[in-house]
Amino acid sequence: MNILMFGPNGSGKGTQGAIVQEKYNIAHIESGAIFRKNIGGGTELGKQAKEYIDRGDLVPDGITIPMILDRLKEDDCKNGWLLDGFPRNKVQAETLSKALLDEKIHLDYVIEIVLDRDVAKLRITGRRLCANDNNHPNHIAFDAIKPAEKDGKMVCRVCGGELSARADDQDDEAIDKRHDIYYDENTGTMAAVNFFKGHSELTKVIPIDGGPSIGEVTEEIMAAL
Ligand code: AMP
Repeated sequence: MNILMFGPNGSGKGTQGAIVQEKYNIAHIESGAIFRKNIGGGTELGKQAKEYIDRGDLVPDGITIPMILDRLKEDDCKNGWLLDGFPRNKVQAETLSKALLDEKIHLDYVIEIVLDRDVAKLRITGRRLCANDNNHPNHIAFDAIKPAEKDGKMVCRVCGGELSARADDQDDEAIDKRHDIYYDENTGTMAAVNFFKGHSELTKVIPIDGGPSIGEVTEEIMAAL
C-alpha cells in the first residue's frame, strides 16, 4: 500500500502516520526527518538544506525532489510506503505523480487531515512535554489532557512530572510561516492536495476531520483505508 499523508503542523499528522505505517508494515518516509538526519550528520545535503530549514522556508525542489525519489527506490519501500511532508507544492506533486506512473507504481491513497488554521496553531503552542515520559500528553487548551497544578505550578497530569514547552512550538513567526506555506492553495501544500483532488484517475483522496481525539481520528482513517 502506498500512501501520501497531508495535514498542517499541529494536526497530528506525524502521530497518525506512525500508526498507519505500523499497521500496514510499510516504510514511513518523512522528508523533514531526512533533512534533520543529514544536518546532524554534517552531510553535503544537510549543509545545503540547513539555511532554508532554519528560516522555515521550503528547501528548493532541485534538492528535495531527487532526494525523495531516490529514497522511494530503497529496498524497504518494496512493501509500500507512507510519505509524510512531501509533496509540499504543486511541482513536487506533479513530479512525484509522473515518476510513479513511469515506474508503474500505484498511489493507493492520499489522506488529508483537515484542521482549521487557528485550531492547528493552538494545538502547537499549547502542548507541553513531560520530563519523565514523552507519551504523557498535556495540553493547556484541552480539558481532557489539561496539566495538573501543584504549588501554583503546572505539572504532568499523569505523573506529576515537570512540564516544558518545545522552543520551536513557541516561535510564533516560524509557526505562521509553516502554516502560510501549508494553507496556500496557489503555491503551497494545499495546491499539491488539490492537484490530487483534480486527478481522481491517479488516486483516492480521503479527507479526515482532524478535530476529534487521536483515537477517534485513527478510527476514521482505518475505516477509510
Ligand atoms: P517538517 O519536519 O515536515 O516540518 O519539515 C521541516 C523542514 O524541512 C521544513 O520546514 C522545510 O524547510 C523542509 N522540508 C521538509 N519537507 C520538504 C519538502 N517536501 N519540500 C521542501 N522543503 C521541505
